[in-house]
Amino acid sequence: MSHVMNTYGRLPVAFSHGEGVHIFDTDGKRYLDALAGIAVSTLGHNHPDLVKALAEQAGRVLHTSNLYRIPAQEALADRLAELSGMDEVFFANSGCEANEAAIKLARYYGHKRGIAQPAIVVMEQAFHGRTLATLSATGNRKVQAGFEPLVPGFVRVPFDDLSAIEQVAKTNHDVVAVMLEPIQGEGGIRAAHLDYLKAVRALCDAHEWLLILDEVQCGVGRTGKWFAHQWAGIQPDVMTLAKGLGSGVPIGAALTAGRAKGVFGPGNHGSTFGGNPLACTAALTTLDVMTRDGLLENASARGAQLREELARALDGVAGVTEIRGDGLMIGVVLDRPCGALVGQALEAGLLINVTAEQVIRLLPPLTFSVADVTALVDTLAPLIRKFLSA
Ligand SMILES: *Cc1c(COP(=O)(O)O)cnc(C)c1O
Repeated sequence: MSHVMNTYGRLPVAFSHGEGVHIFDTDGKRYLDALAGIAVSTLGHNHPDLVKALAEQAGRVLHTSNLYRIPAQEALADRLAELSGMDEVFFANSGCEANEAAIKLARYYGHKRGIAQPAIVVMEQAFHGRTLATLSATGNRKVQAGFEPLVPGFVRVPFDDLSAIEQVAKTNHDVVAVMLEPIQGEGGIRAAHLDYLKAVRALCDAHEWLLILDEVQCGVGRTGKWFAHQWAGIQPDVMTLAKGLGSGVPIGAALTAGRAKGVFGPGNHGSTFGGNPLACTAALTTLDVMTRDGLLENASARGAQLREELARALDGVAGVTEIRGDGLMIGVVLDRPCGALVGQALEAGLLINVTAEQVIRLLPPLTFSVADVTALVDTLAPLIRKFLSA
């Protein structure tokens, strides 16, 4: 028996090495990676620029702590500010930690304004992480059950429904922020309408609330813009990032602007590892390669190709409800639970995921080529047809 705690239902496969969009198991079998470790491996596997940058950094210094200035962290904060228009960056090591920072910051913002019991509006089907505060913000009972008492201070509303937030605004004077994913990832690749995002921005402004956007999954180029909210032409007060930012090296970030800027000062928050030289080098290299190689444009183009080819290959197949998503964040919605497809795809040499029980989730590296998309569809579409006809 393994001594690894049994917190995941794991597939019986282990990987030994990767090469671009492919990864090899310990028996030498090759897989096309259409999941990228859940939107993490932005540049695919063993990217030569990333390998070189990490080796060089490891050969100089890995860690110094935030008790000192960290040049790579400063450079990364500058770069993220330039790409997002945000002002300040707090570095963490994961998505839930970035969200914890955002939640703490919203509460602190409320207290500074004399609100003793600040509340944050959160969404149904949301996923914000597994720590106590972030699981409390998450809109999924399965994530919460058994961990009560939940952290108080969250008010839940239906996603993509402006009037529900307006209703809360009328009755609850403790609200300090609205927190949402522009595209819900774990919740089933559900995108908020751009008009809704704009209206929530305006509502937050009218009430002097913070707009907190969790872009842990949909950010960092995945949808074809650096950040998903940029499609709506809005700017959040807080944005959180993680997953794809370090292309496999753990890093999270909470960025502030507008009325969230300057809320935290020394002593309000911290992290031993957050923003260490190795992680920041990984993120800087990821952003550099994305820029140099046009990976935003590629995410848009390959995403469009993938949706088109999937739609063609699955045309008229009963049981396929919808193909949705933006860029390389795609959900194929079936009319029934389809978790079994993950193992069948694995067998066929393809890594995919199923979320929200009946949504096949595709989150390939942003380096996917035209031929990779076609290979993905050629493998996946017949599996879906077979699964639905069984
Ligand atoms: C994965 C995810 C998180 C949690 O990130 P961890 O790094 O697992 O803590 C939070 N929010 C969203 C939208 C995510 O997809």
